[in-house]
Amino acid sequence: VRAPPSNVAWRTVSDPGRRLPADALDELRAIVGDDHVLVDAERLVPMSTDWTGRFVGRAAAAVRPASTGEVAAVVGWARRRGAALMTQGGNTGLVGGATPLHGEVLVSTSRLNSVTVVDMASMQVTVGAGVTIEAVQQHAERAGLRYPIDFAARATATVGGSIATNAGGVNFVRFGGTREQLLGVEAVLGTGEVINDLRGLRKDNTGFHLASLLCGSEGTLAVVTGATLRLVPRPAAVLTALVGFDSAHSAIAAGHLWVARSTRIEALELMRADGVGLVCEQFALPTPLRAAAYLLVEVAGERDLDEELHELVECTDGVTGSAVAADESARRRLWRYREDHTLAINRLGPPLKFDITLPGAEMQPFVDSIASQVRGVDDEANTWIFGHLGDGNLHVNVHATTDAAGRIESLVFTEVSRRGGSISAEHGIGVAKRAFLHLRRSPAELAWMGRVRAAFDPDGVLNPHVLLPHE
Ligand SMILES: Cc1cc2nc3c(=O)[nH]c(=O)nc-3n(C[C@H](O)[C@H](O)[C@H](O)COP(=O)(O)OP(=O)(O)OC[C@H]3O[C@@H](n4cnc5c(N)ncnc54)[C@H](O)[C@@H]3O)c2cc1C
Repeated sequence: VRAPPSNVAWRTVSDPGRRLPADALDELRAIVGDDHVLVDAERLVPMSTDWTGRFVGRAAAAVRPASTGEVAAVVGWARRRGAALMTQGGNTGLVGGATPLHGEVLVSTSRLNSVTVVDMASMQVTVGAGVTIEAVQQHAERAGLRYPIDFAARATATVGGSIATNAGGVNFVRFGGTREQLLGVEAVLGTGEVINDLRGLRKDNTGFHLASLLCGSEGTLAVVTGATLRLVPRPAAVLTALVGFDSAHSAIAAGHLWVARSTRIEALELMRADGVGLVCEQFALPTPLRAAAYLLVEVAGERDLDEELHELVECTDGVTGSAVAADESARRRLWRYREDHTLAINRLGPPLKFDITLPGAEMQPFVDSIASQVRGVDDEANTWIFGHLGDGNLHVNVHATTDAAGRIESLVFTEVSRRGGSISAEHGIGVAKRAFLHLRRSPAELAWMGRVRAAFDPDGVLNPHVLLPHE
């Protein structure tokens, strides 16, 4: 495996040199308190760099409000001062959407961390935007329930960030994404107004569902300060298996068959031998069963899970072997082969990241051809393919030489678009894909998104350089 040079040109490094005048900082201190206005480089540098290391900016300052009222006051300050804000949760986003490339003032949600008692009668919980996904999961579990959003960044990613990006994750195939769990939000709009609907009514047809609109808006319409989330019952049993296949073709065909046959699949992840090999190499893990491709499958329910899994594997062509997790620690070990892909790939240097959805029938031809097409542009490129097969969502990561990056981005996005797919399945657009949004959204849709944005944020103070392309 060839690692790309560390100084890759598609890394975007920007220090606009914007610093706030003393009186502007004093006004912020008066809102959030002296200790919660950060200006020192030591604190700002990590907050100004994205998780992948591809985007490196420089915030003018960071503020840590502790309440919705303080957030509203910060938004009011930005409007008066003509300053740009950028909301930041756990900073685990993968598209540069929380990286202050234009000297924005970061609004950290780390102190919006309230958690209410789980409402057992309605199976829901209300939390602050800065609470991590893992904390919500653990809180729900202590009440005997489950929060069904889950992904590898769970310990750091926040509820607010997951709402802003409409995060999907490994259980999407069964429960849908964040939007499906979102019953209500509290948020400060770009106008400075607060909307608050944390009543958590499952059925409520009283006009526009603003929580759904904010979900996936990537911080461009509002700062989410709290949310009411749907919880689900915990299954009595979970069975996890790693199944090896003689080809990616067989694995994809099996995945489609299994989803059509079983109602109990909770996760269905595709990996290839090169990606699993890289994870093993980077984290000194033992090689699992030898195969050209793998499916990590999880079924959950009350009983007969062994039988269910056995029947699924029995009816499938191309299986070379399987390993079933007998207990929770074995389950976690199997999941590492999948969850550590992102980290292992990043260790070789920031890749070009493509997070795409394809119609089911296009999956196979795309997987068969994309690596060689990329090599046609850059014969030194390495293409890694893995992802949430059950949702038609692939993560394609490419390590390439510097001057080929732009051409590879165009190639992959155009190919996805030609096949009727989406250029972002779950990570969002951020700054990384703004220039390609027109491949998925029509001119009319883009114009209407711009109008909606202008209505929520007339002065353009919230994440002004994220999501929508420039005029
Ligand atoms: C190892 C790894 C695995 C991942 N796996 C998945 C996966 O399986 N599925 C998936 O969907 N994502 C995945 N991600 C991406 C990421 O974790 C999610 O997008 C997550 O939801 C981001 O949450 P965050 O708190 O870190 O947000 P941040 O990175 O801080 O911000 C992301 C965006 O949301 C905005 N934002 C943050 N908080 C708020 C708020 N309170 N109000 C308004 N806007 C806000 C930011 O301005 C930015 O535009 C993964 C990331 C990593 C590093």
